[in-house]
Amino acid sequence: MAAADNALAKLRNIGIMAHIDAGKTTTTERILFYTGITYKIGEVHEGAAVMDWMEQEQERGITITSAATKVEWKGHPINIIDTPGHVDFTVEVERNLRVLDGAIAVYDGVAGVEPQTENVWRQADKYNVPRMCFVNKLDRTGADFFRCVQMMIDRLNAIPLVLQIPIGLEGDHIGVVDLIGMRALTWRGETMKGEDYAVEEIPADLADDAALWRDKLLETLADVDDAIMEKYLEGEELSGDEIKAGIRRATVAGKANPVLCGSAFKNKGVQPMLDAVIDYLPSPLDIPAIEGTATDGETPLLRRPSVSEPFSALAFKIQTDKHLGKLTYVRIYSGKLESGSQVINSTKDRKERIGKIYQMHANKREEKSSAQAGDIIAVQGLKQTTTGDTLCDPANAVILESMTFPEPVIQVA
Ligand code: GDP
Repeated sequence: MAAADNALAKLRNIGIMAHIDAGKTTTTERILFYTGITYKIGEVHEGAAVMDWMEQEQERGITITSAATKVEWKGHPINIIDTPGHVDFTVEVERNLRVLDGAIAVYDGVAGVEPQTENVWRQADKYNVPRMCFVNKLDRTGADFFRCVQMMIDRLNAIPLVLQIPIGLEGDHIGVVDLIGMRALTWRGETMKGEDYAVEEIPADLADDAALWRDKLLETLADVDDAIMEKYLEGEELSGDEIKAGIRRATVAGKANPVLCGSAFKNKGVQPMLDAVIDYLPSPLDIPAIEGTATDGETPLLRRPSVSEPFSALAFKIQTDKHLGKLTYVRIYSGKLESGSQVINSTKDRKERIGKIYQMHANKREEKSSAQAGDIIAVQGLKQTTTGDTLCDPANAVILESMTFPEPVIQVA
């Protein structure tokens, strides 16, 4: 494998999906904060800068303005693709689901599975997007983690792999029991000032529940993963790494969904959630090669996630930036894109010249001379391209799977 493709194995392209008010914005902000801290390990000031920026943005009534934001967690680049939570944006949600490799579904721990989460969940089913779940707001009055898990089974037909159970609820919510490591993770200190969570023994009153839920986790995992089943049947002790590898296989295959919990607002549970993104959600190499056709619209073609394949990309969002003008957000599936180069828009059969290429971060945009397979970037200077169009190498044209969206239903009073 080429070095560039090796780096692809570390990349995660994810979306955060939620019913409105479940905490998508808060969770995203906390991700920016914690990834900001560790961006340069030990430099808390980096995180503080991100937070200051977010406060300024909030004062202006904006949070994350970019359609995709790149962060880094423990040496893994993560692109967070904005997935609108409002029902009116269903078409936009579908378009965005196309370009991400995995997702975090955020639930309100009081309301549980709400209608819009159900909709987005089904759309994600349609595109086979591997998903994990974060049950948020466990500090709120009436929060019920296990009810929410049951709703995932009843309403979403999900197979939840419960990886954590909460320690305390409402005002007493202080952390989670990690059922793989069989330890307690608690947030008692000022983690927004850079302190990490504490690792402790499981509280005595939760020991039985923890053992029970760990058994349930292994049992569910054995049901969806043959390698785990074999060991499980033989009564063999599974190591933490074996369990994690099994969870990863099951998640990437779309057979089950890891469930974690906490309170984003109170900064509890976010760092383990980021660890889980790395541990369980797929890299571009883990998902099937994207399907398309030649320009005749018939001959099937595949584009593999490799820098050595011909260039192909999908435009998924157009935004107007007050400094840069029109920016087209694209997901590159294969090959390499250089600024100043000429590509074709195979959907419209037009030539396009690539202007500047930008990588968008939470608090800065970075100009790049090129981008490659797996990347999600913003391109300046595209004249003809609209969302859903394929851009590709003129000598190796491909039209990536066409997207058909339902017509919006207009209610007439
Ligand atoms: P979004 O609509 O999904 O983006 O939701 P927001 O992140 O904007 O959150 C909606 C409201 O819930 C805001 O007032 C947040 O402060 C609040 N909120 C988000 N997460 C939590 C949480 O973990 N606990 C509590 N108590 N409130 C939260």
